[in-house]
Amino acid sequence: MFFTDTPGPVAINAIRDISHMPVWLDDPDRPSATSPLESDISCALLVIGGGFSGLWTALLAKRAKPSLDIVLVDAGRIADAASGRNGGFVSHSLTHGIRNGADRWPSELDQLVRLGHENLEDLGRDVASLGIDCDFTVAGEFVVAVQDHQIDELRDTARLANAHGDTVQEMSGEHIRAEVHSQSYLFAIADPDVALVNPARLAWGLLEACQEAGVRIFEHTPVLDLADVGKRVMAATEHASITARQVAVATNAFPPLLRKMAKYIVPVYDYVLATEPLTTAQWDSLGWNGRQGISDAGNQFHYYRPTPDGRILWGGYDAVYHRNSGVDPEFEVDHEAFGRLSEHFFQTFPALEGTQFSHGWGGAIDTCSRFAPFWGRAHGGKTAFVAGYTGLGVGSSRFGARVMLDLLSGDTTELTELAMVRTKPLPFPPEPFRSMGINWTTKSLHSADLHDGRRNLWLRTLDRVGLGFDS
Ligand SMILES: Cc1cc2nc3c(=O)[nH]c(=O)nc-3n(C[C@H](O)[C@H](O)[C@H](O)COP(=O)(O)OP(=O)(O)OC[C@H]3O[C@@H](n4cnc5c(N)ncnc54)[C@H](O)[C@@H]3O)c2cc1C
Repeated sequence: MFFTDTPGPVAINAIRDISHMPVWLDDPDRPSATSPLESDISCALLVIGGGFSGLWTALLAKRAKPSLDIVLVDAGRIADAASGRNGGFVSHSLTHGIRNGADRWPSELDQLVRLGHENLEDLGRDVASLGIDCDFTVAGEFVVAVQDHQIDELRDTARLANAHGDTVQEMSGEHIRAEVHSQSYLFAIADPDVALVNPARLAWGLLEACQEAGVRIFEHTPVLDLADVGKRVMAATEHASITARQVAVATNAFPPLLRKMAKYIVPVYDYVLATEPLTTAQWDSLGWNGRQGISDAGNQFHYYRPTPDGRILWGGYDAVYHRNSGVDPEFEVDHEAFGRLSEHFFQTFPALEGTQFSHGWGGAIDTCSRFAPFWGRAHGGKTAFVAGYTGLGVGSSRFGARVMLDLLSGDTTELTELAMVRTKPLPFPPEPFRSMGINWTTKSLHSADLHDGRRNLWLRTLDRVGLGFDS
């Protein structure tokens, strides 16, 4: 099946009344905001950024040393950025999928797969032991082929994954269509180990755990500048400064505080819709009894899943870059992207014609050219950073936090020795070449999806040098 991008009347009507609030944040149990920082303070560890990366960093640091004085600041609200507006797929993959891992770190792939599974198991254990009410369920994921050429690609992916310790199963077209009733499905692979979560509730649960452990949290406190002042690092905020022995920077797709990060990441906007809760009859028409996460196998792919309150969350496809690495709340609403997503939804599930979407939103992804996180140090080792999750950071941000803490410790550990941790992605070129390159790549990926996956000379050249663009 080829997805038609022009929305028809059914698709347009379905998005007529959407709220632009992410469905996860539209929750009466959202915690009230903490106060901004108003006066100068000092601490042992300053964590900048209150998404998953920052929250896990603060929590795991406290767990390792309960007496450590930790401050966490966020420019806005906890979980307001990517961590509260994503699809809630919690993957065990640290490498943005097995194929990317095999291409980039073949000699340590077994280790990365093992560490990824351990990370997800530990995350699940933490959720349970902290009593975080976030609907964390290991429901599994189907990756579906909707075009013939994707079948062999998925077979190769399954073989590769199983050779390195995953347990992925192949499903014939008949089998997957019996599970989830969409005539667009030709084949699938099933990964039983992927979890689904309500991501905002996970972040708020981590926030509460941090507060209970004694982490001081200040929202609406953007850090404007970081400076090395001898044995400490000084963070300037709007009204006050923070002097810290160590700093962990977890600012994801936002303008980097450290110049050395800037060339490696570009913010890319990804869009999501959520339906009204479906009726029992509508769910019965779909099958989908295991309530798994699903994604399709195109370059421009969709990801979708049931929510705990009976909606379908449907996202992906467009990955929109704004010139000069623009990040702006205005970019979180894109009616053309919502229209395309709505059209593709009804092409996949025509039986749901008449269903309304209640929510439609966007969020910035920190894309890097290797699609998987990278780390680094600054200020003579007093500061560490992580970024570059490229749309797969809900699970791996816990691992990202562990690596940052290992880097700050100065010790040599299993994690600091990984080639994945020691190396950086290829940098993106400066503007205007950055915009030109990304736009040409996006067009080429779209064209490949329309032509049996055939990659043009431009994409093949990028593949050869290891420079990619994805979400
Ligand atoms: C629409 C969408 C769908 C996605 N779907 C999935 C999915 O299903 N599965 C998956 O694994 N991943 C998904 N992702 C990616 C995932 O959400 C992210 O990788 C993950 O949440 C990153 O967490 P983080 O803490 O690094 O970043 P964020 O959650 O973005 O947090 C960074 C925080 O830093 C703060 N900040 C920035 N600059 C400053 C500053 N100067 N001073 C103070 N604070 C600052 C920001 O306010 C923000 O709160 C998706 C992302 C998006 C946008």
